[in-house]
Amino acid sequence: MIAEILNIGTELLLGHVVDTNSAYIGRKLAGIGINLYHKTTVGDNEARAIAALHDALNRADIVIITGGLGPTEDDITREVVSRVFGIRQVHSDEAMAHAVSLLNRWGHEDQASLRRLAQIPEGAILIPNPRGTACGFIVEKSGKQVICLPGVPGEMQAMMELTVIPYLTGLEGEGKIIASRTIKICGPGEAEVEDRIRHLLHGKSNPTIAPLVSLGEVMLRITAKAHSMEEACSMIDQTEVKLRESLGHDIYGTCDDEIQHAVVRLLEEKQMRCAVAESVTGGLIAHKLTEVPGCSKVLGLAVTSYSNDAKIKVLGVPEADIERYGAVSREVALQMARGIRSLSGADVSISTTGVAGPLRDDHMHNVGLVFIGLAWNDGIACGRFQFFGTRSEIKERIAKKSLDILRRHLLRHHLVGTYDEIGTI
Ligand code: ATP
Ligand code: MG
Repeated sequence: MIAEILNIGTELLLGHVVDTNSAYIGRKLAGIGINLYHKTTVGDNEARAIAALHDALNRADIVIITGGLGPTEDDITREVVSRVFGIRQVHSDEAMAHAVSLLNRWGHEDQASLRRLAQIPEGAILIPNPRGTACGFIVEKSGKQVICLPGVPGEMQAMMELTVIPYLTGLEGEGKIIASRTIKICGPGEAEVEDRIRHLLHGKSNPTIAPLVSLGEVMLRITAKAHSMEEACSMIDQTEVKLRESLGHDIYGTCDDEIQHAVVRLLEEKQMRCAVAESVTGGLIAHKLTEVPGCSKVLGLAVTSYSNDAKIKVLGVPEADIERYGAVSREVALQMARGIRSLSGADVSISTTGVAGPLRDDHMHNVGLVFIGLAWNDGIACGRFQFFGTRSEIKERIAKKSLDILRRHLLRHHLVGTYDEIGTI
């Protein structure tokens, strides 16, 4: 089945509002294995919206419209759908009762606009709106479905969850269950991941494996269709085993896991504590770690030592090293990691020093250059990396890479008990 999104709203074209609805709907449709090939945005203009809906219906089986369902004159979605399908609008007692009860609950006197809210195309299925006065509706004709939802994101999302997703899942065939799981990878880039799992990607329609990329990591979404949840989960389990055979410890977690969850889990397992000394990441690594409940047991000390002075006074980095090598250097990263470890008494420590941009530093280092230091009870190591992107993207990538280095160190500790140098120096 192919779906398409049609957003109606002039504010979206003017850039006053960012279209987050499509991103949300796109993710939800992917989750149930429905293909989405196009999305269109038009202003609050009836003729253009009618043309856009015609085009969408020529390409797709399901069109999801958001926006334009309110009670005012510029809310045109009802008219547009009625005109395109040649169906008249009728009064819905159910839609009216819903709006009245909500307005009474909110204590609103003015109920004059309700008549419009209660109009829906004849024969449409009503979609209850638990968060607002305007109900949505589904119109079905000649095997095509048009699903109309309000523009307000919270209302639209609640209606997708409660009604639209179960409805679309039902269309896929009786008793068909769709389940999915995301496998999360840090380290190799998208091209390398695809290369290593190419044999699993080709010619497989159930389960499917969809690669997705986000800052500093790659995700593989496994989606299985089956007659029961058990069957779908067992299909996903088998695919996950094969992915793990190909990707090993590059996989750090699944679904809602973030890299910091994997790190905290490993530290807990090993009953170890870590410490963090951050320059270029400005506390982002500490922030990520402290997002994980129970982190206080495994995070000994975190210092943001952005200035040279702080590196010297707090972490004990020799002033001569900063003068000789510069603050963004292998030597300073190593001294920072060593300094925070001895200050905190932690088992393992990590440090970052680099250039987040947008301009080069005083030593004319490239934007995105970073040294990540690691110190443990009987060794130290340092990695030199070059990242790209905006200032905040670079910081995010460095923070994730640092946490991944810590994770890999903890895994090796467990698996082999020896240490290699990390990254390229
Ligand atoms: P209302 O009953 O509030 O009039 P509506 O269904 O008519 O709802 P719109 O008037 O089109 O919806 O949009 C209401 C608000 O929802 C907009 O001002 C905007 O803030 C938000 N919105 C609309 N479309 C989107 C979208 N695609 N992505 C994110 N937000 C949106
Ligand atoms: Mg409106």
